[in-house]
Amino acid sequence: MISHDLLIVGAGLAGMRAAVATPPSLNVGVISKVHPVRSHSVAAEGGINAAVHPEDSWESHMYDTVKGSDWLGDQDAIEILCRDAPNDIMDLERMGALFSRDPNGNIAQRNFGGLGFPRTCYVADRTGHALVHLLYEQLLKRSLTVYEEWYVTSLIVEGGVCCGVTVLDLLTGELHAILAKAVVLATGGYGRIYSTSTNGLINTGDGMAMAYRIGVPLQDMEFVQFHPTTLKETGILITEGARGEGGYLFNSRGERFMEKYAPKAMELASRDIVSRAEYQEIMEGRGVEGCVMLDLRHLGAARIKERLPQIYDLSLTYAGVDPVEAPIPVTPGVHYSMGGIMTNAHGETPLPGLYAVGECASVSIHGANRLGGNALMETIVYGRRVGTAAAEFAQKTGQTPFSEGVLTRERERILALFSHDEGERAEKIREEVGGVMAEHFGIIRTRDRMEAGIKKLLAIRPRLARLYLHDKGKVFNLDLVDALQLFSIMDLAEAIAVSALSREESRGAHARSDFPSRDDTAWLKHTLAYRSEAGPRLSFRPVTITRVPLAERKY
Ligand SMILES: Cc1cc2nc3c(=O)[nH]c(=O)nc-3n(C[C@H](O)[C@H](O)[C@H](O)COP(=O)(O)OP(=O)(O)OC[C@H]3O[C@@H](n4cnc5c(N)ncnc54)[C@H](O)[C@@H]3O)c2cc1C
Repeated sequence: MISHDLLIVGAGLAGMRAAVATPPSLNVGVISKVHPVRSHSVAAEGGINAAVHPEDSWESHMYDTVKGSDWLGDQDAIEILCRDAPNDIMDLERMGALFSRDPNGNIAQRNFGGLGFPRTCYVADRTGHALVHLLYEQLLKRSLTVYEEWYVTSLIVEGGVCCGVTVLDLLTGELHAILAKAVVLATGGYGRIYSTSTNGLINTGDGMAMAYRIGVPLQDMEFVQFHPTTLKETGILITEGARGEGGYLFNSRGERFMEKYAPKAMELASRDIVSRAEYQEIMEGRGVEGCVMLDLRHLGAARIKERLPQIYDLSLTYAGVDPVEAPIPVTPGVHYSMGGIMTNAHGETPLPGLYAVGECASVSIHGANRLGGNALMETIVYGRRVGTAAAEFAQKTGQTPFSEGVLTRERERILALFSHDEGERAEKIREEVGGVMAEHFGIIRTRDRMEAGIKKLLAIRPRLARLYLHDKGKVFNLDLVDALQLFSIMDLAEAIAVSALSREESRGAHARSDFPSRDDTAWLKHTLAYRSEAGPRLSFRPVTITRVPLAERKY
């Protein structure tokens, strides 16, 4: 039986930062369903927020984040993020991060949506790539065991304590139990629940679903971030850095339409506001073939190629548009999971021994809407904190014994998936769920549309019992992985749907045309979704407000 003191599931920035924070004496294992540097963090483009400039302050970062969250973020958690961020940036620099510089040689910072100060540090428009490789180097320096291309299928709970995972070695197809005194989930977001998304295909929310299945609540699942600028028809992200560098948005009449929606912040209002504005322009017939236009031409070729080299390449390759010569066609697209596994500021979930961090967790910093640049900072600040807290727990706890029956049951569950000689492929059902989510739980929601969406999801659910795996082999069976991921997708789609239907107000990314205003009297609270046989069961939790009093949100 394999065992570790501490197991970290996920080797994106959050998981790797947590691993690097553990003391060398601890026996730590890190598991990832892909090679660590292929985790979605590697795709992060525009940057990471920290008040490192002498004229900036953590208090101002905190105010912007609370306002961005539409007052749903927990202010104790936000304060930790904003206070710690500058030191963590320095730590990254000491590890060797090559941040872009200003002409004086200081770390350069660009403007991002919803920020009152240009606070986003960056490495051109490949920030995630630089940080993932940096932390992977740090991981290799440590004698940690990394299980690459191992797929965790479930969490093991004995006597009310999380004490390990069941995991499929994708290369051999063998199912193992790995025991640990504590488990940290750092499994990332669920963007791929929707048909089009900026997220990698691997972002299916497995960790959230695994926690949900063993009774841990998912918090604020109704808040799904739509990014304002994804490349026409592809869902590929065009970083907010493009607007941060000065890009404009135009409609078909050549109007800079953000004037109407956010006269002060214009294109750099928060993401929910810019996405809704674009949606309204397109719906009211002022779009250009279902898009609006992102214009960078006035920045000039030199600046575009120095600051936004990847955007230049992506636009040219996937839309055939040279941004030096022509505006880029963009639409809002699914991008980020504000909700996730409920944790406190040490990453503890309500289940002893189980921690969560990064995009799979909801601490909650982002509340109803995340500010660009804050997700990367969360993976670093909270990765360090949660790695430290989980390590301390593991050091003072014994290993909970485990019964072999767990592994046998999980093996039977997986073998059952091979039993059908005909039926539907997981991929087909996944596309259908994605379509339902896009159509019924999009940028603007209504009761009727959501109820119709829930009916469709309920009709899809029983079909999961008749999945057909074309590949019956053991070695690298991606058909099997698709099927297992589909169960995560289905659970989370239901949690999002039921949470969204229940929240009868508009706040941040959750916008309802039947309840168009924010309602602090009834809805200044977090939604908690618990799994039950009858579908998600909801309860609520108060929001923590410390320094920033409630106010109207205007940009
Ligand atoms: C295109 C794009 C650009 C972005 N740009 C920015 C930006 O500029 N600034 C910013 O702040 N944020 C940005 N974000 C958001 C930010 O990058 C992510 O929220 C963050 O990197 C998530 O990190 P993570 O470590 O939580 O998860 P991830 O990096 O997604 O890593 C998840 C890990 O979990 C593992 N895993 C998942 N399920 C299993 C399983 N069942 N078994 C084993 N392993 C599993 C995966 O293999 C992976 O290693 C961007 C996101 C996208 C999609």
